[in-house]
Amino acid sequence: MSAPYPPPYPPPYPHLLAPLDLGFTTLANRVLMGSMHTGLEDGRKHFAAMAAFYAERARGGVGLIVTGGFAPNIEGWAKPFAGTLATHAAARRHRQVTDAVHAEGGKIALQILHTGRYGYQPLCVAPSRLKSPISPFTPRELTARGIERQIRAFVRCAALAREAGYDGVEVMGSEGYFINQFLVTHTNQRTDAWGGPYECRMRLAVEVVRRVREAVGPDFIVVYRLSMLDLIPDGSSWAEAVQLAKAVVNAGATILNTGIGWHEARVPTIATSVPRGAFAWVTKKMRDELRAAGIGVPLVTSNRINTPDVGERILADGCADLVSLARPLLADAEFVAKARAGRADDINTCIACNQACLDHTFRNQLATCLVNPRAAQETVLVVRPAAQRRRYAVVGAGPAGLAAATTLAERGHEVHLFEGAGEIGGQFNMARRIPGKEEFAETLRYFDRRLQATGVQLRLNTRATPEALVAGGYDAVLLATGVSPRDPQIPGEDLPHVLSYVDVLRHDAPVGERVAIVGAGGIGFDVAEFLVTPAGHSPTLDLKAWMAEWGVADPAQVRGGVVRPQPAPPARRVTLLQRKSGKLGRGLGKTTGWIHRAALQMKQVEMIGGVNYERITPEGLVVSYGDKRQDGQLIACDTVVLCAGQEPLRELQAPLAAASVAVHLVGGAHEAAELDAKRAIAQGTALAAAL
Ligand code: NAP
Ligand code: SF4
Repeated sequence: MSAPYPPPYPPPYPHLLAPLDLGFTTLANRVLMGSMHTGLEDGRKHFAAMAAFYAERARGGVGLIVTGGFAPNIEGWAKPFAGTLATHAAARRHRQVTDAVHAEGGKIALQILHTGRYGYQPLCVAPSRLKSPISPFTPRELTARGIERQIRAFVRCAALAREAGYDGVEVMGSEGYFINQFLVTHTNQRTDAWGGPYECRMRLAVEVVRRVREAVGPDFIVVYRLSMLDLIPDGSSWAEAVQLAKAVVNAGATILNTGIGWHEARVPTIATSVPRGAFAWVTKKMRDELRAAGIGVPLVTSNRINTPDVGERILADGCADLVSLARPLLADAEFVAKARAGRADDINTCIACNQACLDHTFRNQLATCLVNPRAAQETVLVVRPAAQRRRYAVVGAGPAGLAAATTLAERGHEVHLFEGAGEIGGQFNMARRIPGKEEFAETLRYFDRRLQATGVQLRLNTRATPEALVAGGYDAVLLATGVSPRDPQIPGEDLPHVLSYVDVLRHDAPVGERVAIVGAGGIGFDVAEFLVTPAGHSPTLDLKAWMAEWGVADPAQVRGGVVRPQPAPPARRVTLLQRKSGKLGRGLGKTTGWIHRAALQMKQVEMIGGVNYERITPEGLVVSYGDKRQDGQLIACDTVVLCAGQEPLRELQAPLAAASVAVHLVGGAHEAAELDAKRAIAQGTALAAAL
């Protein structure tokens, strides 16, 4: 992105964009790209893609990149054959990454990640033989010699990172990984010099930092990621966290990064429903402690910082010296450059959905981004200027149509986008009304700007007819007409107290006090969340309420910072149903499904699977179970909401094809089953890049 001329005055984001002098080197600004596992780390064949991925972020102006985690040895693997930096040959492979980043003027540190008992592999090790709830493998308890071997592996990895051209390393000491496991009695029950009193439990962390510093010399960045809020019972006390912070700084850490929550914690820490900047107060608390002790080490704060405004406010309030953004830089590699140019409205904002990043990683797929399908696909999904300018019509301005139209226009084509409604966004306009999904509005703001910037000719309130499209003489028509709600054909569904989710979320139809929801897919869960939350009281927009809801407390008051959740009472009594037997919400996101289920359980939503829908009566919904269809059971309610999935809307296809117009289907119009915004945007972008 070229710098604007004249530059914006006054310069925007004075705290966020201020350089940071580390003594031996200077970071261009206060934005650190937080470590994010993309899967590119885990195979030699991905190094070129990884170089392109980080180079694009360096070009976008980020102050310091931290790579996804690399294990220092096989015991530290996150999974079998996970990316490891333990040999000179491996260090040589990393050269293409560091060279590519430096060529763009960037700086990059390698994260050393030893997963300890979180390793999803049989060779995992830990301070004590205690299985974690999130891995099927029981770790081997290390001997004192074994611990020494792990420390040497950290040191070797750091030295190799320097050899590979990195500007620094981040020692991963939080999130419940190996080093963190030594710190608390929850996972460390040793009685030797590495367990027992806190001085012994923290010895590993301090030894690793001290010996890494010795090995890499004074002019190399060593970031230590410190768990400041464990969010588990028996987690570190605040006094222990402060003691450790002082010790690792004394041992040679250049920067302290904030870790929030172990992976096994039952509190969401990064999902969409977590308020923006929800944990900046924790870093501030630590920063104040260290400053009071005369320790001026720069601190990084993280979690749910996804706009320059949020980052600027956090820094201006003295919460931290840098902000860490991981997923937001997947969503938009030019985050910093756009902020600097005074174009924050053009940023493609991370909506914290996890659908294409973490959910992919946990399914062993390469991570990318729902709102930016080019992320980590830079060498595969290339948007090139078109060889010849053509005319396209895109019908439907939902996520698929918006992605297709703007990508086509970016390539230089003339694009006419037709939308029957008075606003762009399609299903996203319903999603953004769900408490905890307010972020979805950001994607529509982004696409709105993008439509203007790329010159798409948008026609709102315009139902495209086959005749008009044929008469338009387009080179091709892209049908992104979306979906319509499936009719579940339940006797009695035409009664006045039966609504579809569209009536509820789009048309604000009145809903009674007792509600039965037919269908427990993503939309059934969303509608339940909408109905149990009092209007205007989304905890996502109220940090205090959110903390009470999930039981997050001041770690100075209670170890680990967790107390019993105190959710606000539900606004309605809701029953959520599906025909499949088994747990409801099984098809929700791998890393977020548990949050949706827990949130509804806290609101006393009754979840029932394995039902047959017999009929709807004025008194409620009659269901039966299994083959005993005659024994209907009444679920008394005054409103029934149908969330029974979708059917594709593609009635324009046949008449256009009959008139020999080239037609392409994208998004829900192409395939409604398991449609989600990830597929819609990816498909729209890929088709437009290929046409
Ligand atoms: P969905 O996820 O496919 O769920 C449809 C639900 O309707 C299922 O519970 C299904 O369960 C039920 N159903 C299907 N046919 C039925 C019939 N004939 N009669 C009664 N019930 C029927 O679809 P959706 O909820 O409409 O969501 C659409 C897409 O948006 C999904 O792909 C979803 O991933 C995405 N989305 C995701 C989220 C999220 O992850 N939080 C939120 C919103 C939307 P049974 O067949 O067992 O009854
Ligand atoms: Fe953010 Fe969702 Fe993209 Fe992940 S997939 S980076 S959470 S927008």
